[in-house]
Amino acid sequence: MDYRPHADDARFLLMEVLDAPAQLAALPAMADADPALMAQVLDEAGKFVGEVVAPLNAAGDATGCTFNAGGVATPPGFRDAYQAFWRAGWPALACAPQDGGQGLPWVLEGVLYEWLSAANHGWTMAPGLLHGAYECLKHHGSADLKQRYLAKIASGEWLATMCLTEPHAGSDLGLVRTRAVAQADGSYHLNGSKIFISGGEHDLTDNIIHLVLARLPDAPPGPKGLSLFLAPKVLPHDTHGGARNAVHCERIEEKMGLHGSPTCAMRFDGATGWLIGEPGRGLNAMFVMMNAARLHVALQGVGLLDAAWQKADAYARERTQMRVPGPRDAAKAADEIIGHPAIQRILDTERAWVDCARVLAYRTGLELDIARHHPDEKRRASAQRWCSLVTPVLKAACTEQAFHGASDCLQVFGGHGYIREWGIEQIVRDSRVAMIYEGTNEIQAIDLLVRKVLPDGGAALAALLLDLRHDLDAAVPEHAEVLRRLAELRYATTQLAHAAQADAQLPYWVAGDYLRAVALALLAWAATRIDAAAPRAAQPARWQRATQALRRWVMPEFSLRLGLIKDSADKAAMLAGQTAPAAPAATPANA
Ligand SMILES: Cc1cc2nc3c(=O)[nH]c(=O)nc-3n(C[C@H](O)[C@H](O)[C@H](O)COP(=O)(O)OP(=O)(O)OC[C@H]3O[C@@H](n4cnc5c(N)ncnc54)[C@H](O)[C@@H]3O)c2cc1C
Repeated sequence: MDYRPHADDARFLLMEVLDAPAQLAALPAMADADPALMAQVLDEAGKFVGEVVAPLNAAGDATGCTFNAGGVATPPGFRDAYQAFWRAGWPALACAPQDGGQGLPWVLEGVLYEWLSAANHGWTMAPGLLHGAYECLKHHGSADLKQRYLAKIASGEWLATMCLTEPHAGSDLGLVRTRAVAQADGSYHLNGSKIFISGGEHDLTDNIIHLVLARLPDAPPGPKGLSLFLAPKVLPHDTHGGARNAVHCERIEEKMGLHGSPTCAMRFDGATGWLIGEPGRGLNAMFVMMNAARLHVALQGVGLLDAAWQKADAYARERTQMRVPGPRDAAKAADEIIGHPAIQRILDTERAWVDCARVLAYRTGLELDIARHHPDEKRRASAQRWCSLVTPVLKAACTEQAFHGASDCLQVFGGHGYIREWGIEQIVRDSRVAMIYEGTNEIQAIDLLVRKVLPDGGAALAALLLDLRHDLDAAVPEHAEVLRRLAELRYATTQLAHAAQADAQLPYWVAGDYLRAVALALLAWAATRIDAAAPRAAQPARWQRATQALRRWVMPEFSLRLGLIKDSADKAAMLAGQTAPAAPAATPANA
């Protein structure tokens, strides 16, 4: 069974739960994105994903990519599907019209990439970095680089890579050693080795644009000494006669999953490149790319979990084993396993995660649009705050749930899940890497707590929680329980900030718990928004079942995580002889 995107679900979440048309109507740059056009784009995207990309998934996993004398062949059908993809204009969906794009909201691109990843994660790795590369070049590239490359990247005619990792430099990019030396003609020569480069070499497009982090000769050590360069696989015709650049793929990795995506070891052997942005500001330029990529990875998690759920749900409706406890149909010798509470619980839990995480990820997509285009500076700032705080939360929480949830969905198949034929084991293998790349989940947790929450004593997070509270007051009748959780989260933040003064390591011990608690509080908010809109859905009970499951099976983890944080904070404070900050009375007014 191939993955099937459900455009109706996306429409309900965008139009009814998040009120996307009204939000986008406030953005002059998105004036054309009316609900009818958005619905049409979703329908067409769903068709492309379901009919062209999904059918290549299982064979792509089985065949994988092959390396031969520096070249890489992708699985059969991948090139044709990619050529059809870019020629149909899909990569340019959210690019600016002046760059050949369609100027549609980023959130639509987010939905498209969620579906593509669910349908065929390996294939989707190829175009997955395009939009980030486009934004990076648009904001930081010179006029000449933009004139040569921006339209080709916007359209997807040429694919792009992100060349950061080196054998000794993974999470710590400050250790990058690749060297860049200035040439008389304004270009640079790049020398060094990069590993794990997704799509470093392939046969999907005629040219590949590498964005490479490297160090200039006079650069200081550490991350501040890094600059960003553009090095194409094929050099320009007018200046270099279309010669092959000195960028070599040395091998592709044998991996646990994601066989349809070539993960390449690359050697830059005096390769010609051009500086993007200012010297020493490479990470800054790269972060434009990495933030968009992190939200994409969160959406990969959501999509892969939905794909696992679809398979498990279909299987559980067919497979019969034993009798379900309680009242029974006397004519049956055995019941479908979906009737067994243990199986229902798995399916309901994962459905709850997919539905509620989608609300958060789509809202983040909308906030990205608002941060870029809203005429009011204050609204742009609050949107920026949402994206900055929520992106690491979603990246880590959605990818962690994708892997563990896919494994639970495999359990629904019993022994058959462990057999390749059903395709569920591929999702477990493929989803695992999303917890690692684009900044490991440990790094996301540290980014949230240590870099973004604690430096201002939790003020930015408190402002975000207050926005959520106002949102609930305005739109949702019953929300006391969510307000209580928001207040508890705020107090835990205060406690942590206080105890961290006594024990500087404390935040690093509990950052993962903290991120998970924030994710759960946000999910609780999302469930409440779904409930408020459910009466307007075609099948209200389908959505209500998911939000009830979230409260019953997922939310208890919130208290567990806060308990872990509180215990550690109490111990640190006790050892330092601190008195705890005053606990607020647990009333909604504290949220
Ligand atoms: C399939 C695949 C595709 C990839 N694609 C790309 C790509 O296109 N471009 C690219 O540049 N890279 C890519 N990567 C590399 C990926 O981004 C790195 O693997 C990742 O950043 C982690 O680096 P590392 O593997 O060196 O692990 P390390 O950094 O060595 O980390 C090992 C462990 O230590 C933890 N750790 C490290 N530092 C800290 C810290 N300060 N605090 C807490 N914990 C820490 C990590 O969380 C991890 O659990 C890809 C990797 C894979 C597997």
